[in-house]
Amino acid sequence: MKHLDWINVRRRGAAAMAALALALTTGAVASPASADPRAVDKTPTATGYGGAVSTVDPEASAAALEVLRKGGNAVDAAVAAAATLGVTEPYSAGIGGGGYFVYYDAKSGKVSTIDGRETAPAGITHDAFIDPKTGKPYNFTPQLVTSGVSVGVPGTAATWQRALDRWGTLSLGEALKPAIKVADRGFVVDGTFRQQTEDNKLRFQQFTSTSNLFLPGGDAPAVGSIFQNHDLAATYRMLAEDGVNALYRGPLASEISAAVQSPPKSASATLPIPVGSMTPADLAAYTTLDQDPTHVNYRGLDVYGKAPSSSGGTTVGEALNILNTVNLSEMSVPQALHYYLESSALAFADRGKYVGDPAFVDVPQKALLDPVFGKERACQINPNKATQVPFKPGDVTSYDGVCPARPAAAASEKDTENISTTNMTVADKWGNVVEYTLTIEQTGGSGIVVPGRGFLLNNELTDFSAVWSASDPNRIEPFKRPRSSMSPTIMLKDGKPWLALGSPGGSTIITTVLQTIVNRVDLGMTTPQAIAAPRASDRNFANSSGRAFVTAEPGFISKYGTGLAPFGHLLVPSGDAFTSAAEIGAETAIEFLPGGKMLAAAEPVRRGGGSAMVLKPSP
Ligand code: GLU
Repeated sequence: MKHLDWINVRRRGAAAMAALALALTTGAVASPASADPRAVDKTPTATGYGGAVSTVDPEASAAALEVLRKGGNAVDAAVAAAATLGVTEPYSAGIGGGGYFVYYDAKSGKVSTIDGRETAPAGITHDAFIDPKTGKPYNFTPQLVTSGVSVGVPGTAATWQRALDRWGTLSLGEALKPAIKVADRGFVVDGTFRQQTEDNKLRFQQFTSTSNLFLPGGDAPAVGSIFQNHDLAATYRMLAEDGVNALYRGPLASEISAAVQSPPKSASATLPIPVGSMTPADLAAYTTLDQDPTHVNYRGLDVYGKAPSSSGGTTVGEALNILNTVNLSEMSVPQALHYYLESSALAFADRGKYVGDPAFVDVPQKALLDPVFGKERACQINPNKATQVPFKPGDVTSYDGVCPARPAAAASEKDTENISTTNMTVADKWGNVVEYTLTIEQTGGSGIVVPGRGFLLNNELTDFSAVWSASDPNRIEPFKRPRSSMSPTIMLKDGKPWLALGSPGGSTIITTVLQTIVNRVDLGMTTPQAIAAPRASDRNFANSSGRAFVTAEPGFISKYGTGLAPFGHLLVPSGDAFTSAAEIGAETAIEFLPGGKMLAAAEPVRRGGGSAMVLKPSP
């Protein structure tokens, strides 16, 4: 109820928020916001020319637009928006985390990617997530996720620098300016921010640095108050002046490793807070990776995604190859959704068996994205009946597209990925496009703010499997990148951008991106409709009785449950043990319309709604 009220406040717009701010202002970092430019209005859809941006947050979208207006390109604008998200969405992303940057270059017509994933430190051990007291894995939430041992070496600042070096026109210092401004002048606290703070109160209370910053006066900042982060502004200024080496080799490297090895526990801390081993040498050793994107062709569209260490590109791509074997647009909607769900479950079966960091694991990426493999996997789908048990992985070593005898079912894997993260889409007047997903893993990351620096450290290493097994591609190893689900995706039609999209949501990122593509390409929806539509996520999970099930938003169940009933899918409402939030995803996208027109789209409702903007609006 409380949450809904805040969402309504958010929807009422700047004037109402400013008025509310007068009434609700709180202590420490708060000050009144009357008639204040900090209360930024937002809309989830915008059409027009000259450049476009879609993020979850109006301040971040405004930062990108300002850069575009001044002649910066999509990469400059994306870095400015990402840095601003570090201020306004500090629980989802920031320089304490990592992410994946996908870029379409208009001049060359090429899609390239940067892997800015966090890495495990040199000193991590196979049993890092096992509690020595019990010999069993630490309880996941809140124990393991609130820890130094879950912190990976951050990749986000290095990603910004690498993207600017390769394709940008601004220096890092220039690109950070809008974010520094927002951090110093503050932003208006909305319902989502307060709710996320409240949800993390116990975790944040464990650390002096975190409670000082995010629990001023002992409580979450009030809706409508102004939240400033001068520490982060100063940290950004240091990066602007000294470069990212300040973080990887300078004073911040020592401070980050100190916070990991000896977290700034408060006297009243109640959680075990397992410590990590990260050293300044681990930070000095960090590098981003330039990588080719994944590619599949879906109904004549070229779909580019992120290769491992993320499982996004291979899993979305394999599911699309499976779906390419049938014509969804000629089917009834329930029949098409049945295929969508089953194709996703099949691709997840292969993700679990084969995908990990390719520096450590021989990932059969070529086979996973081979249309012939997809054709053979499609044989597993019964057109009339959902699988009642999870699918078994396919055989990547021997396939010919011919349907084999039906193999036995496999056990379900456990998935502990969380649902934080943020995503953005940016395009410029030259036709360059950025799709960028960045995260600190869980909402609130590890809960550890680096003392005096204004940002949270990630807990991305919890994306590794907790229990070590030599046959698991996602087992913990020193210097390894945990398998991600982030799926920043750029689709081309006749070699030109057609749709760019991405989402947060842990492993549901994959299904959100896949379902949105199906909605847009096959089910006749516009991009805003495809984003707003209720979601269901089939990750090949089984419940405790071994029965395969689909996590579905309540809106999906009420809209499609009856139509899907004959297929026998078990639809479990989201918000369950496997998907902690009732909402699946908080997507952003840009569709490229004829004549250079752009349609920027964000969520109309989920996570309080996102913010789409274009440089020259035109209906
Ligand atoms: N750690 C997740 C991943 O890399 C992202 C977390 C989230 O989206 O909530 O896929």
